[in-house]
Order: sequence, then C-alpha cells, then structure tokens
Amino acid sequence: MIDDQYAFDDPTKRYAGIDTSEQSQDGPGLDSKLEQHADLGEKSYRGSGRLTGRRALITGADSGIGGATAIAFAREGADVVLSYLPEEESDAQRIAGLIRDAGRTAVTAPGDITDAAFCQSLVDTTVSELGGIDILVANAGKQQHVEEIADLTDEQIEETFRTNVFATIWLSRAAAAEMPPGSTIIATSSIQAYQPSPNLLDYAATKAAINNFCKGLAQQLAPRGIRVNVVAPGPVWTPLQAAGGQPPEELDEFGDSTPLGRPGQPAELAPAFVFLASGESSYVVGETLHVNGGSPTP
Ligand code: NAD
Ligand code: MG
Repeated sequence: MIDDQYAFDDPTKRYAGIDTSEQSQDGPGLDSKLEQHADLGEKSYRGSGRLTGRRALITGADSGIGGATAIAFAREGADVVLSYLPEEESDAQRIAGLIRDAGRTAVTAPGDITDAAFCQSLVDTTVSELGGIDILVANAGKQQHVEEIADLTDEQIEETFRTNVFATIWLSRAAAAEMPPGSTIIATSSIQAYQPSPNLLDYAATKAAINNFCKGLAQQLAPRGIRVNVVAPGPVWTPLQAAGGQPPEELDEFGDSTPLGRPGQPAELAPAFVFLASGESSYVVGETLHVNGGSPTP
C-alpha cells in the first residue's frame, strides 16, 4: 500500500511491494483472500469534496476496482449503495465500514445482477435509501478463462453476457428513469475490448459490447443532462483475476507485459471514476478512459 496518491514517484516502481503469485479461489473470490493484498486506496485516497452530497449505486463494490471506487466516492462526499454477491458479505462489510469512517452512508445490497428484476430493485433501493440516484457505476463483471472454444459452455456464455452486458443495460435503464440532470453513468470495459486474449473470448466480446452500448446511450441521454462514460482498465490486481480470470500459473507474470511493466492496483482506477462522476468532467460524454499501464488503444 502507498500512503499518498499524490506522491511524486516512479510509476514503474509504485506498488513494487505487491508481487503477484500463483493462487486460485472459487466463486467470485474475496479481496481478503488474495495472497498479496491489493491496494484499494485505504491509506492513500484523499478526498476534496468533488462529490459532495451525491447518491451513488456501485455494482461489484465489495472488492477490487468497485471497492476502491466506493472508498474514493465516500471520501469525496457521496453516499453509496454497494451491490455484490451474498458470498462476498465479508468484503462488502469492510468497504461499508470504510465508507462510514468517511462520515457517509453505506447501504449494503447483496444479490445477483444476472436477474433483471434485481437490477431494477438496486436502483429502487438507492432511491428509497439515499433519496435519489445521481451516479451509477456499472462495474460488476464475470471473467473465466477457457483455453478452447469447444469447452466454452452455454452456461458460461450466458452468465458472462448477463453479468457484463445485460446488467449494464438493465441498470442504466432503471437509473436513467430516475436521474436528474447532472447525473452520470459510468460503465466498466477493458483493454480486452481492443486486444482480446484467445482464452477470454466471451468476456472480451462483452467488453466491446459495453463500449458500443455506452457510445450510443451517451448520445441519447446527453440532451437530458445525463452523461455516460466508460473506464477501460488494463490488468489490475483483484479477486476477478485470482478466481479464474487467468490461468493460476500465469498470475506471477500478470501485467508484466504492459509498458509500465506491472499490474495496476484498484486504487489507481478509482480517480478515473471520480473524474467521470463529478462535474469537473461536464463536457466529457461517450468517452472511454483507459487506465491500463500504457497499452495502446484505438
Ligand atoms: P472484483 O472481483 O473485485 O469485482 C467484480 C465484482 O463483480 C465482484 O466483486 C462481484 O461482486 C461482482 N459480480 C460478479 N458477478 C455478479 C453477479 N452475478 N451479481 C452481482 N455481482 C456480481 O474484480 P475487478 O477486477 O475489480 O472487476 C471490476 C470490473 O473491472 C469488472 O467489470 C471487470 O471486468 C473489470 N476489469 C477488470 C480488470 C482486471 O484486470 N482486474 C481489467 C479490465 C476490466
Ligand atoms: Mg468481490
């Protein structure tokens, strides 16, 4: 972990102490079980009132990029509804505690976003518990590596698309119906949208779909004063990767081929979501903000 996100240091060496290694977890995985703890900005994220009074729904807010974003949003003054799977309760409670430490409201909302009605209920919960919704971060994702297309099951294809694409659309539809002008929707794509790995066919396709959906939705909602944007992470050290996102034996080299030569940490993604959520990005619409250690993108 680092102490100050604003430190003037060498980005190739930042987080040199977190050297990922072979490991694996079942299910969605837990941040608390990563052998090398990821940095979610617990010590380093310093807020400056950029989201004062805003009301945010964040999916996958228990861990990884969503967890770091939830911490950052709270320290910028937002209240947060956290969506996650029931088996991630312990991770979610830790993030909720950090939100409350920041003096903001945290509402925990476990459940499965592959269900359209549950996505609607998440927005309803945000409106009833926080008094409205100004920010949607559609961040939850499913990624399972499969080496041969012959082994890609119908069940996996369906779950990956329901989690990554359908839920992003369902949540955006429900949120847009409630959002006042000034609100923002931020989806989570990936470098995989541009550089698909041969063992992540279904996942990479969902990330390209998310980019495309958001470019269209951004144009539709802009006249109503609702801005839609995307963050596209590169390799980031999170449970997603240790729970089947990559072959376990490849985790020790995870991120090493980026120009910075290392994986990113969730804490390095959160500021991109803060920027796109806040009024400081008021003329940024339909953009994909890449946070990937330097890999070229279109
Ligand atoms: P993560 O495991 O910490 O977060 C993913 C979250 O998705 C889980 O915590 C879980 O709560 C949620 N989720 C999955 N299936 C769900 C379901 N059916 N119902 C409800 N919630 C569900 O990992 P992360 O890497 O922080 O992932 C966040 C986003 O970042 C994902 O969209 C992922 O595709 C994207 N991303 C990650 C990387 C990376 O290298 N880690 C790279 C590019 C994009
Ligand atoms: Mg999780």
